[in-house]
Amino acid sequence: MRRTRNAKIVATLGPASSDKETVRQLFLAGVDVFRLNFSHGSHEDHRARFNALRDLEEETGRPIAILADLQGPKLRVSTFANGPVQLVEGAAFRLDLDTTPGTAERVGLPHPEIFAALVPGADLLLDDGKMRLVVERCGPDFAETRVAVGGRLSERKGVNVPGVVLPITALTAKDRRDLDLALEMGADWIALSFVQRPEDVAEARALIGDRAAIVSKLEKPSAIDQLDAIVELSDAIMVARGDLGVEMPAERVPAIQKRIVRSCRRFGKPVIVATQMLESMIDSPVPTRAEASDVATAIYDGADAVMLSAESASGKHPLEAVKMMNRILEEVEADPLYRQLIEASHSSARAGGDVAEAVCCAMRRVVSLLHASTIVCYTSSGQTSLRAARERPESPILSLTPSVATARRLALAWGVHSVHTQDVNSAEEMTEVARQLAQREGFAKPGEFVVTIAGMPFGTPGATNLLRIATV
Ligand code: PGA
Ligand code: MN
Repeated sequence: MRRTRNAKIVATLGPASSDKETVRQLFLAGVDVFRLNFSHGSHEDHRARFNALRDLEEETGRPIAILADLQGPKLRVSTFANGPVQLVEGAAFRLDLDTTPGTAERVGLPHPEIFAALVPGADLLLDDGKMRLVVERCGPDFAETRVAVGGRLSERKGVNVPGVVLPITALTAKDRRDLDLALEMGADWIALSFVQRPEDVAEARALIGDRAAIVSKLEKPSAIDQLDAIVELSDAIMVARGDLGVEMPAERVPAIQKRIVRSCRRFGKPVIVATQMLESMIDSPVPTRAEASDVATAIYDGADAVMLSAESASGKHPLEAVKMMNRILEEVEADPLYRQLIEASHSSARAGGDVAEAVCCAMRRVVSLLHASTIVCYTSSGQTSLRAARERPESPILSLTPSVATARRLALAWGVHSVHTQDVNSAEEMTEVARQLAQREGFAKPGEFVVTIAGMPFGTPGATNLLRIATV
């Protein structure tokens, strides 16, 4: 079973996509990486979804990556007694530390640090900036506000305080509990929300070790100021446009998105473009043309993956959203202009770089000249396959690894068809297995070229130093 595209699809599971059959359908329709969003749902919910995914992997024999997305120091309102409330412009609305469920007059905001930092006149943005409250009076445990822009507010929606610096840590107590569960279950990727500094990534790495790979979510202006340093320290990056577009003006998001994608491609780190990609499909079976165009733009820019949030987690049409995304990806990648744009935005290996870079650079050229059917990568840590993906080569990358953790993580990487196999012991065996698997997985036909890259001696992480050309 293989995908006929390079870019990957990340989809969030939620109430609309939790039963085993729906998850299975989503996978078959094109989801490569499933996201468990720890901003919502109980530990039991996440565990059930996690188990359903591992069962599905067993059933299909295809590695599936599971991304546990930690909420981070995101400020959120608490729950409401009788469901969502309507905030009317000009009305008073109170936020406080009270734990009783909210009403149309007040709601809990369980963050003392926010009340400590607020001043009269400060703006509070609700639900990704859809609603705005202006603080009139405040104390250590409450804020009385006036609704400046009204709307429908439902439970656990986010609160942003632009311009007010909040003294909050990168991993909250809740994040640490969620992280424990995610690592105990064996999540492949951990996403860190509201990364502000390279130190935030280092702090998480010290806790996580090599038990999971780290996705840094870029959604704070301060993270953009230290973009390259954060990209270098992370295993992957998410352009978290929801909060990014609230923390800074929406008109700045497109340029920042392109800058992030460019930086990640230069460092060879997978990059996910996320949030509101097919937003209208939460309710509608078809996206707006602008949304289709937004997904396409991320792909033309060379992003590794695009992501669905509420569209697949709580929308009315999770399956249609995945199918639509899949079709857009295939359509873009079939466009001759796509290849031209990918090449034009490629930053080639630097002279004086390392052996692995040089080998991958040669691989790209060889594949193009020979119209090779498949690039076979042997990898233990995943580095060789990521380096191959960095080249954005013209042929699919068949990644072989004896490590199931590596096989799963690589499901996120551009162009990588990841397979969990036994290790090989010699270059001859490597070439033979490459030939066989390239055929078995549906990449190569007899007579076609297969280009193999690997590190010798086998099993040395990161040492890509061998390129071999074989015919099937
Ligand atoms: P979230 O992250 O959905 O966890 O907030 C994505 C974003 O902010 O865009
Ligand atoms: Mn966010």
